[in-house]
Amino acid sequence: MKKIIGIVDADLLDNGTRHPNLVCLKLAGWYRAQGDTVLLIDSWEDLLYHAKEYDHIFIAKVFDFTRIPEGVLDLHNVSYGGTGFPDSFIAFPPGGSNLPAETIERRGVIRTLPNVIEHHMPDYHLYDRYVEKEITRGIKPIKYKDYLDFSIGFATRGCFRHCKFCVNENSCGVRFHSHISEWLDPTRKMIYLWDDNILAYTHDPNHPDGNWRQVFEELAETGKRFQFRQGMDIRLMTDEKAKVLNEAHYYGDYIFAFDHPEERPSIEKGLDCWRRHNDKIPKLYVLVGWDSQDQNDIESAFMRITVLMKHRALPYIMRHELYKNSKYRGTYINLARWCNQPSFFKKKSYREYCLANGEHSSTVRYMREFEHDWPEIAKKYYDIRWDQFNP
Ligand code: SF4
Repeated sequence: MKKIIGIVDADLLDNGTRHPNLVCLKLAGWYRAQGDTVLLIDSWEDLLYHAKEYDHIFIAKVFDFTRIPEGVLDLHNVSYGGTGFPDSFIAFPPGGSNLPAETIERRGVIRTLPNVIEHHMPDYHLYDRYVEKEITRGIKPIKYKDYLDFSIGFATRGCFRHCKFCVNENSCGVRFHSHISEWLDPTRKMIYLWDDNILAYTHDPNHPDGNWRQVFEELAETGKRFQFRQGMDIRLMTDEKAKVLNEAHYYGDYIFAFDHPEERPSIEKGLDCWRRHNDKIPKLYVLVGWDSQDQNDIESAFMRITVLMKHRALPYIMRHELYKNSKYRGTYINLARWCNQPSFFKKKSYREYCLANGEHSSTVRYMREFEHDWPEIAKKYYDIRWDQFNP
């Protein structure tokens, strides 16, 4: 008997998001291929009032801060998973599991997707009605390009670094996940990948021929522009990787990460290597608010920003939720606004950017409060400008 399946992208219903949820796309792809009716549920009210009309409802979320109304997860026909649920490991094991698909139609948490779903072609049209509604109410279509223009997937999964703030903390290394053809929609113009650490993919005992080079070759064969959305690991940059990236049919910014101050030597080495082969300005995520939320963390952020300026690279401030507990919350906000808008960042020092917001603005107040408490840090970093190093 054909079923009616409801799918909820919880991040979309709570805060809104610009990316389709890949788990939702795969679930939709598999169930539609069985002939079932699959609907994206577009409000919590709809779910609560009409839950009984669905044979089963799946809820997925990426972010742990996404809220779900009370009682929803207890409904008899709801199961849920994704990196946003602490007890769900929907991303692991890397290849999915050998369980039959029906095993996930039980109430409660889903720990891993069955292989048949994990490796099924996503249904890229799941969000069509939602996108159409948004565009009809006047939102610009460009906002929905991730839903409309891209094929999405993983070539590899996992990472070997065990960073404590990351969903990959317990991952045992980079492993092959799928060939690009598994999730490529030839009608879509571009490709983006969610691989955790593509540049660390050198060896998988189960796929002896696989490595980062082979992934880039597969991507080149599609003839489409592509992008790795997670920050790539510039500490692993080599001359060969820099050359391949330079020649790739890449879409948008090359994004890497500079999360901790002690990484400075290997980051600088990676940036030097990049520069030998590539003239493009890379962007590096600068994680703040995680190591601590005090003046030391802010000094570390300024130091990393300055290192990047010196290497003709742009910072992108990524604030960990914990920054909200800081006495200097406002400084974190200022730093993000200054750095994350390259048009400001390339033209103004931190002090000039803050002053441009007006003498009576909160931006200036935050800047002065921190300078009052930590004049040495302010003296060292407030007046440094991009064009000092990049005339
Ligand atoms: S390097 Fe990146 S992907 Fe790997 S564990 Fe650290 S944050 Fe996660």
